[in-house]
Amino acid sequence: MIEVKLRTLTPIWTGNVDRDSPSLKDTGLLGSLRFWYEAWVRALGGSACDPTSKDKCEYKGKKISICHACQLFGCAGWARKFRIECTGLETSPLFLVTSSKINQGWLKRIFEKQHNALFGQASLKITADDKDNEDVLLATLSLISKYGGLGAKTQHGFGQFLIENLDTKRVENGLSTIRSSISEKTENASKPSLSNFFISKFKIDENSVIVDYYLTNPLTIGTSSSGYGKYIPCSFDIRYKGEIQGRSFGLRNYFREIYGTQVTERIFGYGKGESRQGSKLFVSHLYKENNFDKFYYFKVWGFISPKLSTKPNFSIDLREEIIKHMQSRFKPAQAVFDKAGYELEEVSK
Ligand SMILES: [Zn+2]
Repeated sequence: MIEVKLRTLTPIWTGNVDRDSPSLKDTGLLGSLRFWYEAWVRALGGSACDPTSKDKCEYKGKKISICHACQLFGCAGWARKFRIECTGLETSPLFLVTSSKINQGWLKRIFEKQHNALFGQASLKITADDKDNEDVLLATLSLISKYGGLGAKTQHGFGQFLIENLDTKRVENGLSTIRSSISEKTENASKPSLSNFFISKFKIDENSVIVDYYLTNPLTIGTSSSGYGKYIPCSFDIRYKGEIQGRSFGLRNYFREIYGTQVTERIFGYGKGESRQGSKLFVSHLYKENNFDKFYYFKVWGFISPKLSTKPNFSIDLREEIIKHMQSRFKPAQAVFDKAGYELEEVSK
């Protein structure tokens, strides 16, 4: 058994609309673990089916007939190799801020039925069939903490967390366990993979104009809680569009102005009648890692190639564009971590 102590940096979204006492399990914890494990396994060349698709695995008497992800997470006929007990986290009122009246209207409609999220400290007890698999799950959780977010609606800023008791030796062992379990190479180009990925983490001064606006007099959605200030739930503005002191900012707006609608839809998704595609780009809320920090962090990550080719012999360097935009609008801001998926220590050999 391994006990993992988590601390949330931004609230975690719960899937159960207004249940009285949602738990970390209701946030889709298992779904997140599986999603990131799949993306990791694919980057290392292993096979991972999409459990929501028609081609998902089914165990038919031979372990090698099911993919790497199903071997650990289970599928029809094959039991999951671990269980997780969660305790802790408190219900916190759902609260968002924005600088735009239009966004405020949108967000009120999107989050109309949801009044709560989860915030605070949690303990996860992971018990697997063997110690190596516990380490694999710890390594996956650590990966999510560094490069993504936990639960649903991470594209809306939810689900940032730290592991407070990270045992790096066990993470290392988890890493080498995953590597040694993958020998053959499978082509999974069309599914989310850490080889088609990037992550940029920014640090922004708490005296910047933008932070000052959100801390003093923003437009709000929902009820503010005591956690406000530890995090600033404004990811919608950063991902789409905000305007402070007559100056607009926001990534979708920026890409649309420079590269047009088609390119922008490839990155940010679209929904037209029957055809829909989710966003490939995720933006966290602003958060402090510690109460005494004089700055905020936020992360931008994408399950998309950081070099997006749009025409023959031409590609857009997404990381460069995002950093350029952030540094011009979020002054003073700096990218403290910036890597393409293939550069991550977990993926490179
Ligand atoms: Zn599978």
